Amino acid sequence: MAILIDGKAVAAAIKDELKSFVEEKAKEGKHACLAVIQVGNDPASSVYVGNKKKACAYIGIGSESFELPGETTENELMELIDRLNADDKITGILVQLPLPRHIDPDKVIRRISPAKDVDGFHPMNVGALSIGEDCFVSCTPQGIMELLKRYDIETEGKECVVIGRSNIVGKPMAMLLLRGNGTVTVCHSKTRDLKEICKRADILVAAVGRPKMIDHEYVKPGAVVIDVGIHRMENSKLCGDVDFDDVMPLCSAITPVPGGVGPMTIAMLMKNCCKNL
Ligand code: NAD
Repeated sequence: MAILIDGKAVAAAIKDELKSFVEEKAKEGKHACLAVIQVGNDPASSVYVGNKKKACAYIGIGSESFELPGETTENELMELIDRLNADDKITGILVQLPLPRHIDPDKVIRRISPAKDVDGFHPMNVGALSIGEDCFVSCTPQGIMELLKRYDIETEGKECVVIGRSNIVGKPMAMLLLRGNGTVTVCHSKTRDLKEICKRADILVAAVGRPKMIDHEYVKPGAVVIDVGIHRMENSKLCGDVDFDDVMPLCSAITPVPGGVGPMTIAMLMKNCCKNL
């Protein structure tokens, strides 16, 4: 029987640990404050931003919201980021993606001070991750490593296959597994023999963005399967990139959707917010 990796419970435990940490730091007069910027009113983004603010409030991290209209220019957004970079009270800056089409997300990410880049998207942090230096690490892959650690799932010497090479999930995931001494293969839309490669994996991470694509044909018996995908189905329920019911009987451990990787992303964002306290 596969172990169900309970990201919701682990995330709740981490938030409680951070709450105590933040209380201790407050006694030394040290405080964290996250600036959250949203441009436009994409409903999904509003939900994510709301959840982040709620998590900050629970832990005792300050948060300042900047809800800018969809017509905000790139220059106006840059000026706000410059002000927040220079503001000593603000310890973390997060710009909720996606941005409206007229704003270049890469330029925006580069404008955030690497020292306040709690999403870990700035090229300085990405570079530091790749050479094994201390840095802000992208929250979703960091959360997956934390889940593996807390479930005593060893990465050293394991065949790790990551499906997806995005800058926010696939690539940093591969770097972290490599740092964990795994033997890492990164697959993507141009990969040939995807099923055969996935079937080699002791640890399979699906960050492919296609609902229920990964079924039993991709999974080696006894593998650990981590599902990063989040999709809303027609019946309004959520599903992942993995066909959970089909794969679960095969694997040794698996993350469900919802309640697996998702809650860890916010928990790691909170951890990043506390990193330099
Ligand atoms: P993305 O679209 O940027 O990247 C998808 C990757 O999958 C690409 O690198 C692409 O090459 C690869 N791919 C696409 N089709 C493929 C195919 N048929 N075969 C092999 N590879 C293929 O997506 P992303 O931002 O990395 O997100 C991936 C999924 O994770 C999405 O469902 C997203 O909603 C979800 N997500 C969840 C969280 C979370 O907190 N749980 C965070 C970020 C993203």
